[in-house]
Formats: sequence, C-alpha cells, structure tokens
Amino acid sequence: GVERTFHFRKLPSYPMISAVGMTTRHILAPHLETRSRVLGEAAVGTALLLALAATASANALAERRRTAEQRKALVQLQTFTNRVPGLVYEYLQRPNGSAAFPFASEGIRDILRLSATDVADDAAAFFALIHPDDVSAVRSSLQSSALAMTPWECEYRVRFADGTVRWIAAKAIPQRVDDGSTRWHGFMSDTTEQRQAAESLRIAATAFESEEGVFITDAQGIIIRVNQAFSRITGYPAEEALGKTPGLLKSGRHDAAFYAVMRASIEQGGAWQGEIWNRRKNGEVFPEWLNITAVKDESGTVTHYVSSLSDITRRKQAEAQIQNLAFYDPLTSLPNRRLFIDRLKQALASAARHHRYGALLFMDLDHFKNLNDTHGHARGDMLLQRVAERLNLCRREGDTVARLGGDEFVAMLPDLGSDASEAASGAEVVATKMIETLRQPFELGDLVHHGSASMGVTLFSFLDDSVDELLKRAELALYQAKDNGRNTLRFFDPEMQAAMVERAQLEADLRAGLNEHQFVIYYQPQVNQSGHLVGVEALVRWQHPTRGLVLPVTYIHLAEETGLIMPLGRWVLAQACAQLKLWSLDPATAELSLAVNVSAVQFHSDTFVQDTLATLAESGAPPSRLKLELTESLMVKDMESVIEKMQLLKARGVGFSLDDFGTGYSSLSYLKRLPLDQLKIDQSFLHEALSNPKDAAIVRATVALGKSLGLMVIAEGVETRAQRDFLESEGCLHYQGFYFGHPTPLAGLGRFLVVQDPA
Ligand code: C2E
Ligand code: CA
Ligand code: CA
Repeated sequence: GVERTFHFRKLPSYPMISAVGMTTRHILAPHLETRSRVLGEAAVGTALLLALAATASANALAERRRTAEQRKALVQLQTFTNRVPGLVYEYLQRPNGSAAFPFASEGIRDILRLSATDVADDAAAFFALIHPDDVSAVRSSLQSSALAMTPWECEYRVRFADGTVRWIAAKAIPQRVDDGSTRWHGFMSDTTEQRQAAESLRIAATAFESEEGVFITDAQGIIIRVNQAFSRITGYPAEEALGKTPGLLKSGRHDAAFYAVMRASIEQGGAWQGEIWNRRKNGEVFPEWLNITAVKDESGTVTHYVSSLSDITRRKQAEAQIQNLAFYDPLTSLPNRRLFIDRLKQALASAARHHRYGALLFMDLDHFKNLNDTHGHARGDMLLQRVAERLNLCRREGDTVARLGGDEFVAMLPDLGSDASEAASGAEVVATKMIETLRQPFELGDLVHHGSASMGVTLFSFLDDSVDELLKRAELALYQAKDNGRNTLRFFDPEMQAAMVERAQLEADLRAGLNEHQFVIYYQPQVNQSGHLVGVEALVRWQHPTRGLVLPVTYIHLAEETGLIMPLGRWVLAQACAQLKLWSLDPATAELSLAVNVSAVQFHSDTFVQDTLATLAESGAPPSRLKLELTESLMVKDMESVIEKMQLLKARGVGFSLDDFGTGYSSLSYLKRLPLDQLKIDQSFLHEALSNPKDAAIVRATVALGKSLGLMVIAEGVETRAQRDFLESEGCLHYQGFYFGHPTPLAGLGRFLVVQDPA
C-alpha cells in the first residue's frame, strides 16, 4: 500500500499507527502504540474493516471458536479507534450515487456532533452539516478521488445548529468495490485551532513588518530579530544588528540616570515608552519614540524584550515650528506678545526677589500708516523687519525686544540695579539709543525712508504687581510722548520724567559751560605735621550763570555717562599744569605738588597717557610735581593695562595717590603691584575716628600698611584739631581738610604762601 500520514501537532500524547496495509496484529503491536506522532488513518480503516466484517458475519459457533487473543485484539482495536482524537471512518459511495458511513468511530460526536447511526445508511446528515460555501468543493473532491483513485484530501467547514463554524480536515484512501461502489477509509479532524494559530502567526508576521522599527532581544539584551523598518530607520541591516545590544544605537545624549529610570520602569512595570535620541549608522542623531515591552513566560521570567521604535524627526520639526509660530512673530522673528509677557512676568518676579529695578519700553513708529498707505504693505513689512534688526542691535544681553503687533514694539530691560534713579538713567540710555537708531534713514528697496519713533518708559521693581498694569503705564507714557510731538521718549513715573528732563537740561548746560569757559579750579591745601603747605588738590568748580557755583557731585557722574568728562578732564589737567609751571618759577612754590582727580572713564581712554604727557610737555610743568588721584574703582577693570599706564607715567616722574582709600576693595596683592606714592585715607573714616573704634582701627591699619609699602599717607576731611592730633598720634603726618583750609580760588592760598615765605 501507499503510505499516507498526517500530523497531529496538538495532541502528541496519543498513540500513533503508521503504515497502510498492516494486519490487525501489526497495528496492535504494543511498540507501535507509543512510537511516533504519525497516524496512518487508512491502516486503521483497513484493520477496522477486517475486524468489523468479521464481527458482522460471525455466528455464535464461530465466535466461540475465536481465540481469546483475537477477542482481546478486537476490543483493543475498538477502544483504540474510539479514543483517537478524530473521526475514523469508512465512507461508501454506491453506483446509484447514494452515500453512507458504514463505520464511524466515537470521534464523530466531537468532530461532527453526530452519532454513528445518523450516517450509517445515509450520509445526508453529514452533507447537511457542511457549510454551504464548501459543499460543492467537498463533493467534487470526492468525485475526482473516485475517478482517479487518488487519496481524498479536503479541508472544509461545518456549521452546527448553534451557528458555530469549525474547520474539518479530511483525508481518505479510495478503494473500488466489485459492485461499482467506491469505499474510502479515512480520518477527519478538527483543524480550527491550527488554522487560527496559523492565522495569528500570519498576522504577527505582517505586524512585525510594519512601519515601525521592531527589534527583539533575548533576556540578556542581545538582539535576535529586527524587521525591515528597523533597518530602514537605523541604517543597520539585520546581519549587522543581530548579536549586538541596543547600545549600538546610543546617541550619547542621555546620561546614566536616564537609562536607569528606563530599566527600573521595565523591571517594575514590564514596559517603558518615551522619547529617546538615538544614532543612526551614518552617525546622524535622531529623535525616536521607543516602546519596550518585556515578554515573560508562564512562570513570570522575562524571556525577551520587544522594542518598537518610530522616527519622530518630522514630528519634532513640526513641533518646533508650531512652537516658533506660537512664540515668535513670523515677520520679524522677534518674540511675540505671548513670549514677551511671559518673560516680563519672570523679570517682575525676579525683580521682586532681588529688590532690583527693571524697565519696560513701549514704542511705536511715527506715521507708519503713511508709509503703508503710500508705498504699500510690502514696504511696510520691510520697514518693520529693519526696525526689528536695529532694535535687536541696541539690546544688551538679557534684554528682550518684541513686536506686539502692527508697528508696536516693546523692550524689557530686566536688571538695571537697585537704585531707582540709576535704573531710570540706565533705561534712558537704552531708550535714547533705540530712538536714535530709528531716526537713521532706512533703505527699503529703491525707497529711502526717514522715520522716527516715540517711546514710553516705565520702571518696574519689587513694588510692582501685574504685567497688565505695567504695559498700561508704558503705553500711557507712549501717548504722552506722541502728544509731545513724537520722536521722543517719556517716562510714566513723574519723578523719573522730571529727573530725565533735569538730566537732559544739565547735559545741555554742561556742554554750554565747557564752551563758554564757566569752569574754574579751586585749590585745597595739603599740609604736613608742622602745618606747612606741601601741596594742593585741584577741585573743579562750575560757575554757572544762573545755577551759581555748582559742586562736582552734581555733574561728574553725568559727565562720565555722556563722555563730557573727557574735555572737562583735559581742561582741568591743562589748568593744573599751567599752574605748576608758574609755581616752578618761584622758589617759594617750586616744591609744591598739585593733585588732580582723574575719573576712571578718563584713565581708561586709549589716549590718556599720551594726552597727559603732551599736556605736561606743552605747559613745561615739572612732571614730578603732578600727582594723579585715582580711585579704587579704577582697578575693577583691566588691571594689567592700568598698571602699564601708571608705569609709563611714573617713568616720566608723575606721582600717584590712591583716593578714598578704604571705601573700595583694594586687594593687598594688587596694591603691591601698583606704582603708587600715596594712600589717601577717605574722609568718611575721619568723621568718626574719635568715637568709633572701628574707624580708628582702619586709620591705624592704613597708616601701617602705607609704611610697610613705603607709601606716604595723607588724610582728607580733617575738620578739627582733635582729628589732626589723633592722626598724628597714629603716625599719619599729612593732612587735608577744612581745619587747614577750604578749597579756594588761587588767591585764597596766599596765606599759606606767605607763611612759607620767610620774606
Ligand atoms: P574727592 O577727590 O574725595 O575730593 C574731596 C572732597 O572733599 C572735595 O569735594 C572737597 O571739597 C571735600 N572736602 C575737603 N575737605 C573737607 C572736609 O574737611 N570736610 C568735608 N566734609 N569735605 C571736605 P568736592 O570738591 O565737592 O569734590 C567732590 C568730588 O568730585 C571729589 O572727591 C572728586 O572725586 C570729584 N572731583 C572734583 N574735582 C574733580 C576733577 O577735576 N576731576 C574729576 N574727575 N573729579 C573731580
Ligand atoms: Ca581727590
Ligand atoms: Ca576723597
């Protein structure tokens, strides 16, 4: 016979019979019962046929003659066929076309939900069960099997009364019978589960080859499978990824803590998902959305990790773009209202925390509508872009310039110090610069546009609350600026506005004063232990036609801010040198030194050394009689160049005094390196030196320091005899102050000069 086998994947524990044409004895051979997973259904059929035929035709006499062994074999065979998980059958097709199942094993109940008697004479009940879509296929396959004498193989569906549909696989070997019938011996089994499993495998395989990159690692994290999308996204073909760990993709953008959190989440929750930066084979770092799931076996032990990843570069880009649109003005790329308000809020909070001042500037282009109306919106847009560029150039680090909409721009200067009037002048400097820059002509294509802007300014501080309130204040100030004829700025705060006007007036007056020679020099005597005049300090005075005699505190700071200190300082130095020259001609005054105050702004200018030497040379004054007074604040910036400049001048004989000593923050190491001649104890220590032991200690320490550094020490602001005596007792032997003489015009020094003059 021909060997036919098929497989019981799901039921390996059943005994199998393997060959066609075997005898009953063979079939029942015990070693076969347990040997393999293969069942030869036709063999069972043949054996049954023999056995059953024998049974049917037996008479009582014959039966008695059977050996006990045969009877036992038959029982065993019956038991066996009935226990087989499937239907063992004989199917008979008669020449007249009728059909029946002369034999059907117990399995018919499970497989077809019929009993053997239902179909023993007529197979109609069987055909009635077959799914209508499959009936013709079943019939025609039987037909061709009968014609060609080839095994009948067919997989078809049955549909039960309750609507359940099951898949049945049938296989049978045909055999011709003399009367023209065809008889099949075969086996049917339910393959529904198998088909479902195959189907889910197919679905899984399709899913695996999805748009998402998928890789599977074993429990040790070794990659054992990747799909095509994985290779497409990461650039690693399967053969390069297999056997590696996912570390292959590390971008280096995440720290150990990131991976620790990921591992903990997988360990505890069995999964992790999130955004992660990975590196492609070509080195490109890209963002991906990664989903890792642990696969566990029945005992809960992790056997694999399945990871799916999708490239979210595009999404990130889109997000960034949306973010940009949400916070930036598309025309000018400046922050928009939303971002600006956000930053303003932060600045307010920070100002409140640190007790500092900031400023809000609100500006609006003058007559912008005219440009738009007469030259079109394209030109208008171009102007707005140029304006944004220029405003950005005026911005210092930390400042924000934004466009609120239309031709309205705002700027926020978050930290202008802790003093209100200083903050106001800081704001004014930036605001003025902005207005000034917008006053310069704009080239808009072939059009040259002359524009201007108006601005409202308000300060904010720890006292302020709401952003809305601030914007309202700045806007109000802006309207006032517009009312004022535009092209100008206004402070919201009346006293700031007043101070600003005041400063502007003072600056104008200063310029005029310099041009009109309103400045004079006063001289204040410096004496030694015995009260003899040893030098003088030149102190500038401003003889203003209406303001009267103006003291330097009023205008030195402004002069420094506006740069007017340069011409003023040069003038003072020239006056001082001219005076020195005169004194050098008279033996009575030839020894006097003349101290001149030099502002930090002046000293830091590139031409200071050159200017000073030139002035000395032009005047013919002896450089060794000139003493420049510098303050400690000078040392804050560019120490090396300060020392170099001092050395250059020192080489020509010019002396140096460190003014206001003790109020700054001289470090001893710097002090040692400076080519100084004198320390000048600040007058603030003198005021209380007699009552405050701390001040007395500072005076004492300064004298000691001066001695150890080989420097002269002079005290300024000496107003009483007691102060003078105290200083003397501490070893300070030079004095300056009202006790000896106020700053006076030159003539006022006569008294000292007379004293000096023995004639
Ligand atoms: P400073 O260099 O510390 O000058 C000493 C100041 O103390 C002078 O004020 C002087 O009039 C004042 N003074 C002198 N003796 C006494 C005293 O016994 N008691 C009191 N209470 N005060 C006394 P002044 O002239 O108003 O000058 C103020 C500041 O202006 C100076 O401080 C100096 O920093 C600056 N200054 C003055 N003239 C010039 C100048 O020509 N150029 C520069 N850059 N700054 C100058
Ligand atoms: Ca001084
Ligand atoms: Ca001083």
